[in-house]
Amino acid sequence: MVLGATLGLGLNWAGVHDMVDTENVGKVAAIGKGIGDLFLRLLQMLVVPLIVSSLITGVTGMGDLRTLGSIGGRAIAFYLTTSFAAIVTGIVLVNIIRPGTGAELALLEEGVAATKPLLAEAPDGIGLVLWQQLQALIPKNPFAAAARGDMLPIISFSLLLGVFIGLSEHSHESKDASVVRRFFSGLFDVMMQMTLFVVKFAPIGVFGFTLFAAAGKGPAAFRVLGWYVLTVFFALAIHALVTLPAILRVMTGRQPLDYARKLTTALVTAFSTASSNGTLPLTMQNVEDAGVKPEVTSFVLPLGATINMDGTALYEAVAVLFIAQVYGIDLSMTQQIIVALTALLASIGAAGIPHAGMVMMVVVLNAVGLPTSAVALILAVDRILDMCRTTVNVWSDSIAAAVVDR
Ligand code: ASP
Repeated sequence: MVLGATLGLGLNWAGVHDMVDTENVGKVAAIGKGIGDLFLRLLQMLVVPLIVSSLITGVTGMGDLRTLGSIGGRAIAFYLTTSFAAIVTGIVLVNIIRPGTGAELALLEEGVAATKPLLAEAPDGIGLVLWQQLQALIPKNPFAAAARGDMLPIISFSLLLGVFIGLSEHSHESKDASVVRRFFSGLFDVMMQMTLFVVKFAPIGVFGFTLFAAAGKGPAAFRVLGWYVLTVFFALAIHALVTLPAILRVMTGRQPLDYARKLTTALVTAFSTASSNGTLPLTMQNVEDAGVKPEVTSFVLPLGATINMDGTALYEAVAVLFIAQVYGIDLSMTQQIIVALTALLASIGAAGIPHAGMVMMVVVLNAVGLPTSAVALILAVDRILDMCRTTVNVWSDSIAAAVVDR
């Protein structure tokens, strides 16, 4: 990461000062992205078979269905509480710092054209988001869902399959159900071995992505949006360094620093890839190495990577209030509460891939009547903020696993 950043920032600086052709700097950035993308593809290649085998093995390994219910209930309670705490931190800071007041609208409007294709993907309205989430739980064809890499349907189908493998085994009517269980448990072992292999390439992928971000954007992107970036950054830092460690300490007695150290690979990968979904294989590996039971990780982490996004929730709230400030609109207390609630929904609905949070922000903007094209204002700095919020997302998932385990 340090190597990529130093090289990238150096090149960017040389480009700005006409010592190197900016076109060549762009080419180096593109090579960095190419290298990073290869690594991300390797990780993504593992995700579907890993999640399916891990969830099924986790469920069949629990024995009693009540255990599944209690783990699930606790995990979801944790996800909602911490995401909400993150949002409150963001809203308080954005009201204190007021990064949008006095920002020059004209300077920010460059990104408008670039956002158009992104915005076309965004769903319209909260009701629709909820309905889509509900529908997503029931895949018409689980294989098609797996082929597309849609997480929620994969999770719900695997859980159900796990439950029925267990029931079939116990009903003594099917002698062969145990073959299915052993197949998935074997597949899970193999997928974990493959993950260990792919981890070895992490430093190269991280280098590539950091080079891309540093050479491609340089510090210039931050000047206009400086206060906005700082606000998101401070709020994320408070959540990640104070709130979450306190929860970990109090609920599990673990040392937060020690736990974070064991998660280094996952956290650095989350930061550089900006994808909690892609990072999932490494998160599972690291959290298990830190002593959390596989029955817990296999359930809490895939679900968390899909619906528990503290960083994203916080970012949605801060970004929307920032946009309102830029337009000179003072949102009332009620409107800010609406922002908080829709930000929570948007973070649940956002996929664990780069920039998903920005696309979902349209829902929050809609809810308080702000123009959806305003997303363009913050496009320039979304990558760096995405890297930070994804790290917080993965950190929160990992703490959820430790707490539920305890
Ligand atoms: N990139 C984030 C993640 O993967 C989602 C987002 O865009 O906020 O967790």
